[in-house]
Amino acid sequence: MNYCSHCGSDHFKRKIPADDQVKRIVCENCGTIHYENPRTIVGCLILNDKNEIMLCRRGIEPQLGLWNLPAGFLENDEAVDSGALREVFEETRAEVEIIKLHSIYNLLKAQQVYLFFRAKMLKDHYELTPESTEIQFFPADQIPWKEIAFSSNVHALEHWINIQNGASDELSIGTLKLH
Ligand SMILES: [Zn+2]
Repeated sequence: MNYCSHCGSDHFKRKIPADDQVKRIVCENCGTIHYENPRTIVGCLILNDKNEIMLCRRGIEPQLGLWNLPAGFLENDEAVDSGALREVFEETRAEVEIIKLHSIYNLLKAQQVYLFFRAKMLKDHYELTPESTEIQFFPADQIPWKEIAFSSNVHALEHWINIQNGASDELSIGTLKLH
């Protein structure tokens, strides 16, 4: 942030406001507190009728060339489930139906919260896009673990594998404190 969105001043100070416990960016001119909060990333763990998981090979940085679950940043005017469906369509052109919230993953240092929904294909159709240069459905025992792009994806995939192996099918919440 270069200028205060309230008054246009470029004088900021990091300090703990009254009745707060955390250092905030405070405008020295008008006193506006500019809160910084985590960003939300939404996506889907998509299953086909053989119970295989869709992975997409990333056509863009970061982690270009590695596999990931389709996901992306939630927009300001968007519900989390709508955002997840939008990201799936943008990356794969697939139409899916959400089954349930599958996993939540806190990436503390990056100030990100991931929400993955479990979803199923509505039609047997998907297309490559600039964001996804390869799309493939993987059986649970053939996940390319060494080529998974993000720890949030590993968490969601491991939860699915655990469910396949008899673990409880509850929402799984994971946290990574460091990069
Ligand atoms: Zn200001």
